[in-house]
Amino acid sequence: MDIFVSFWGTRGSIPTPGFRTSRFGGNTACLELHTNNTLVVCDGGSGMRELGLDMLDRNLDAVTGHLFFSHTHWDHIQGFPFFPPVYDPRNTFYVYTSGPDDRTFELLTGQMKSDYFPVEFSELRARVERRDLDAVGGRVGDFQVDSLALNHPGGATGFRFRCGDVKIVYLSDHELDTLLDNRQQALDSPDLPRQIPQRFLDFAGGADLLVADGQYGDAEYLQRVGWGHSRATTLVDLALQAKVKQLAVTHHDPMQSDEDVDAKIRACRRRAQSLEGGRLVIFGAREGVQLRFETGTFPRSGGDTLERPL
Ligand SMILES: [Zn+2]
Ligand SMILES: [Zn+2]
Repeated sequence: MDIFVSFWGTRGSIPTPGFRTSRFGGNTACLELHTNNTLVVCDGGSGMRELGLDMLDRNLDAVTGHLFFSHTHWDHIQGFPFFPPVYDPRNTFYVYTSGPDDRTFELLTGQMKSDYFPVEFSELRARVERRDLDAVGGRVGDFQVDSLALNHPGGATGFRFRCGDVKIVYLSDHELDTLLDNRQQALDSPDLPRQIPQRFLDFAGGADLLVADGQYGDAEYLQRVGWGHSRATTLVDLALQAKVKQLAVTHHDPMQSDEDVDAKIRACRRRAQSLEGGRLVIFGAREGVQLRFETGTFPRSGGDTLERPL
């Protein structure tokens, strides 16, 4: 089975259209994973609109989509009201939450109150419902989904998607640096290996693809400690220690031009080279890029599936 992973929004904080960002893109967070049977969307930043338009191009109708939101900061939900498939009565979307105290659904739909947006949530034509991830045992179509609490103001959730023997991990938004076991040493001597807490190594362990918040270059981060985002180079330590195969650095800072993102990624590659010979594949997440993964074993399917192939 093939799994396609598409980047629709890779910017953090606020959309940044313009010539300075045209290569990596200016849309905020949105990542799509799909198999023939299952459509998963991680975060609904402004890139979600691009995903929706692409779904129209693909003539997708009668779709069941599974929506995961890391948290409800604007850059992760602002595309939802502009996502064309929610206006099609043939479609169904599940918004995954965890436990009765999870306010994701209310906060997501609350942005469509008439003070903020001309169309009320109740006027959407598609079925949009909340669904508790634990209640379905993490089974979401072709994927088995696990979650992990991240370090971000107000909280955020990371997700791991397993399908057959393929593992894809999404960690955004997340400040790993202040959780390091050698936090101060890692700030004072940035060349030293950074000690990643075991729970993140377990969660990301052996991932075929890790997509993670690496908003800041090293120098920027020193001015932004405690803001809730990671130094991109710290992701290299996570990926190497967790034996990840491919690292996509995402949630680029709105101040970063394409050249700045290039420089940030070069610094990551230099770090990987010096720590472990550079075997890890590292790239800056870029709008419009699609990756394909092939599972070795056909997984048992559960939950909802699409009637029509994607
Ligand atoms: Zn964000
Ligand atoms: Zn955030």
